[in-house]
Amino acid sequence: MLRLAVGTLFLASTLAAAVVADDDGRSASTPVTTTTVLAAETTTTTAVRPATEPPTTTAVLPVPTSAAPALAGPAKVVVSRSGVVLPVVRIEGGGYAVTTPCGKGATVTQATPVDGVVVLDAGHGGREPGAVGPNGLTERALNLAVTNHAKAALERAGFGVVLTRSGDYRMTIGARAAVVKAVAPKAFVSIHHNAEPDGPRPEGPGSETYYQTASADSKRLSGLLYEEIVKALSAYPIAWVADRDAGTKYRINDRGDDYYGIIRTTKGTPSSLAELAFISNPPEAELLSRPDVQQVEGEAVAKAIVRYLTTKDPGSGFTTPYPRDSPAGSGGGADNCVDPPL
Ligand SMILES: [Zn+2]
Repeated sequence: MLRLAVGTLFLASTLAAAVVADDDGRSASTPVTTTTVLAAETTTTTAVRPATEPPTTTAVLPVPTSAAPALAGPAKVVVSRSGVVLPVVRIEGGGYAVTTPCGKGATVTQATPVDGVVVLDAGHGGREPGAVGPNGLTERALNLAVTNHAKAALERAGFGVVLTRSGDYRMTIGARAAVVKAVAPKAFVSIHHNAEPDGPRPEGPGSETYYQTASADSKRLSGLLYEEIVKALSAYPIAWVADRDAGTKYRINDRGDDYYGIIRTTKGTPSSLAELAFISNPPEAELLSRPDVQQVEGEAVAKAIVRYLTTKDPGSGFTTPYPRDSPAGSGGGADNCVDPPL
């Protein structure tokens, strides 16, 4: 009974995760939508708002004219007082007009400009937990922990990092992509954990990294991520699972474009979607709940990115995926999205 319930939950999570891409594809392929941004006298255009949501003004903070931020130059991304990462639409008299995690317009003051050569994305968040392990471990929490370890390791190596999601809140794919577009980093990695494997994989971890099919740089980044992740996780002799076509791969939608929105909408930046291990597999979920293993994963991601940035190593694990049907569902959009306090 419990097993059935858990299995159903995994399936639901998988479907939700898959549709994130599809939902986002529709919003990404929709022409620019007119949106009213708070504190602006005129309307402004932004591409991150889904076409299905009516224009909204969000009063997040008052904008005292005496609190103008000190700027050394045009800020692309700021971190709010509460730690939320916000792409800047423009600088206004008393603060920054930004895009919120739900893809809305807002104005903040007392925010800190940030920049980096790498952007990292912790998948899911808030009321979108992603896949959930049989031990209760959620992707939203695990992905963020691993992402923070990767950020710390990259910073120790001297590379500046900007996160898309810095806490446990929802964030649309469009808002994540807006951070990437604002920073225009040399590399972008979206960190996830997988569910619904095909079966056991005695030879080791069933890690998968997805690349942008039109980008040789994205392919090399993904190959290096696959190489480092598998190398790091292979140290643990557990009962791994996988899809039959695990490896460095791609997925195409019915329009011939990249299926997953997080790498499709970040074209122009070498991007990779990494499914590090299977959170749905009990032995892997137990392993992934260990803080030391979360650190190992994060450091493997960081090592791959450093190799991408500093060498011409080609990476490995390249495979031809078998065809998959596109699941239906919803997720990654702005429906009922509630922004965190800014
Ligand atoms: Zn995920």
